[in-house]
Amino acid sequence: MKHWKSLFCLGMQIFLNLNSFAMASESSGLSVSAYTNPQDDSISVRTIKVSGSVYMLDCVNGFGGGNVAVSIGEDGILLVDNMYAWMSPKLTSSLKTISDKPIKIVLNTHFHTDHIQGNEIFKKTSTIIAHENVYKQLLKKHKESAPTTDMLPDVTFSDSMRIHYNGEEIRMLHFPHSHTDGDAVIYFTQSNVLHLGDMFFFEMFPAVYTEGGGNIKQLIVSLEKILREFPSNAHVVPGHGRLATMKDLADYVAMLKETTSIVESKIKEGRTLDQMIQDKVIAKYNALGDGGAQTTDQYLRMLYKLLQ
Ligand SMILES: [Zn+2]
Repeated sequence: MKHWKSLFCLGMQIFLNLNSFAMASESSGLSVSAYTNPQDDSISVRTIKVSGSVYMLDCVNGFGGGNVAVSIGEDGILLVDNMYAWMSPKLTSSLKTISDKPIKIVLNTHFHTDHIQGNEIFKKTSTIIAHENVYKQLLKKHKESAPTTDMLPDVTFSDSMRIHYNGEEIRMLHFPHSHTDGDAVIYFTQSNVLHLGDMFFFEMFPAVYTEGGGNIKQLIVSLEKILREFPSNAHVVPGHGRLATMKDLADYVAMLKETTSIVESKIKEGRTLDQMIQDKVIAKYNALGDGGAQTTDQYLRMLYKLLQ
């Protein structure tokens, strides 16, 4: 019998394939520190052509990790993120349907395992590039709990870097203290595609990992900067959720601003978390609570904790 529970992160936990995973209860990330093959063949990888030389790959019929962006062309395949390691065979066979070239470069949006555990597999043949804090976080995590040294990037950067590949410039830019302290946004300049990693959960409430250096206020500042600095017609690949537009991103930022300001003012009025839950203070956004990440009450609880 197959049980799939959608991505869910109350109290910074994630529950996936409850029957077949060794669960990790981690305060710092969307990750499964001990995993076995979920023996769930229903999950498949979908390939969506986005624009120019860029595709988006995501999971259907289950949760195998965050969204992947792919650049294909004469130089080979470049991946942005690579899901859980056990998804690698499915990811690789989907890539074969769009290109017969080897995977040479892998960019990581941040250190969470649901996005980059495939590093363990792809590292053998590709160069892994990430922000320097991804390296630091993975080392820290290795010492504290799960084995993560097989996921370490080969190349790190501090502020930004440019990669010239498949006929276009690919920019990788660090946005500090947003979802984590090592978030990188990847922009394909000719294809006009942005991958925002977990700075953007589309049609869901977000997760912010304070123990991984994240900050809800700074996340809003970062996303506003992205809205200002990238073309309004850019295609937007979120960390989780379907392909989006800059308008979708603007709506998401407006939601973040409104919900944080509601909770902040209720805290100032002396309202308790239980009262806010009872009063349904952010009920306007209830639909996002069904999106597969946090429910409305879980998001409210997270905001209360972060804004206190
Ligand atoms: Zn994440």
